[in-house]
Amino acid sequence: MIPFSGNPLDRAEPRRRDAAWLRERLADEATRVLPLWKLAPLVRTGDAPRLAWATPALLDGREGQPQPVFLGIADGVAHFAVDLSDRPEPLEEFGFAGAAHFPELRAIAGLLPPGDAGIAAQARQVVDWHARHGFCPGCGERTRPKDGGWSRVCSACGAEHFPRTDPVVIMLVTDAERCLLGRQSAWPRPFFSALAGFVEAGETLEEAVRREVSEEAGIEVGEVRYQASQPWPFPASLMLGCTARAVTRAIRIDPAELEEADWFTRAEVCAALAAPTPRLAVPPPMAIAHHLIRAWAEAVTPRS
Ligand SMILES: [Zn+2]
Repeated sequence: MIPFSGNPLDRAEPRRRDAAWLRERLADEATRVLPLWKLAPLVRTGDAPRLAWATPALLDGREGQPQPVFLGIADGVAHFAVDLSDRPEPLEEFGFAGAAHFPELRAIAGLLPPGDAGIAAQARQVVDWHARHGFCPGCGERTRPKDGGWSRVCSACGAEHFPRTDPVVIMLVTDAERCLLGRQSAWPRPFFSALAGFVEAGETLEEAVRREVSEEAGIEVGEVRYQASQPWPFPASLMLGCTARAVTRAIRIDPAELEEADWFTRAEVCAALAAPTPRLAVPPPMAIAHHLIRAWAEAVTPRS
């Protein structure tokens, strides 16, 4: 499973608008609250890390601070997330020290159970959105959360604002038995990955793939096929994984985007998937690029 997919919660959208139901759930000891601190989720320490849930008692006395966001329901139990970034030492203050900690999500995601990683992605993205949208982009006045934390309303002009998700295309360009991989200058050698870029205004997914590959590597592509997607809450992306067939071969990189791009044979890619080689290291399984690369490399590779 691609990390951050498979969130098991029922988002129960109609419940977000039911203020009385939300208040009851926040008064119910069975309700689970996921604390985040500086966008890091609370995770149990130990050999098998998983999300650490608190009871709503955690929220006592937090009027005027970030309010809990309703994530959804599982097994009849309501789940919320709350931002504790206003507290200097939340592990000590709330008695989590020793049993749990706040690891950076990117570092822990691959170790969490898949459903937990999906919940953490949802929580991180929406908590981050609240932290950065305290003021109305229309008139500049304060906004306040509404609908269980799934919108914010301006106190002056009444405009309603919603959490945004930014689509990003990530594409493995292929030419028969070769695929195109690129590397940014900040990446350690010999790390390469699939090309990627934000979908722009007024653009289809396929048009974004063709434009990005042309801009970054000077390659023209024909057929584009959507393969799979991945939430990427750093801060608010949705990775749209595609394959694209090259119709030209000569690479001409844009040095502002890439330091290097090259064609790699299926044999080279298969070797790098097993272990990094002097010429190529591919992204880890946490990244959708890994899954795009593996799916292509193994598609027609005879298995022993
Ligand atoms: Zn406004």
